[in-house]
Amino acid sequence: MTLLGLLQFLGRSLHRLELRLAQAAGFDSLGPALAVNGPSVFPQHSHNSDEENSQPSFLDSIFWMAAPKKRRTIEVNRCRRRNPNKMIKVKYNFEPCLECGNMKLKHTLCGFCYEKISKETTNIRRQMSVMEGGPLKAPAVESVVLYESEKPSDADQGKRIVERNRKRPYWFSL
Ligand SMILES: [Zn+2]
Repeated sequence: MTLLGLLQFLGRSLHRLELRLAQAAGFDSLGPALAVNGPSVFPQHSHNSDEENSQPSFLDSIFWMAAPKKRRTIEVNRCRRRNPNKMIKVKYNFEPCLECGNMKLKHTLCGFCYEKISKETTNIRRQMSVMEGGPLKAPAVESVVLYESEKPSDADQGKRIVERNRKRPYWFSL
């Protein structure tokens, strides 16, 4: 008997002895030392592809969607929705506009008047750009806007005059 054969014989004997000790202690077979819970960590290999698709995935046991644990009653929901802090506040700080008469908040610009002025200002700007004939051609002098039946005064000498062919609005003061 060679040395290699002796070693193999000793190995087999030791393995048989382990199996008998395990059977005597109540274990059918010695499994891996790591205890795992559930088949999802070590999914059972299957040759059938349909069975693999139906198996629960490893990721299914990790990612959980956030879901409420208890149902909230309608009273609780209504208390939350109709809380006075969530309601729109009633405003009393408004007054009529002194120019046009529309209602507006105090200490704020009137939206109607602002729109009128911005439209007139846009028209004046458009007329000025037509007079200049192109960008970067604005004269380096002051501009004066004159409406119908208005004459330039002595202080307007040397200034660019933008004439508007309409009556001066009452809110567009000099
Ligand atoms: Zn107004």
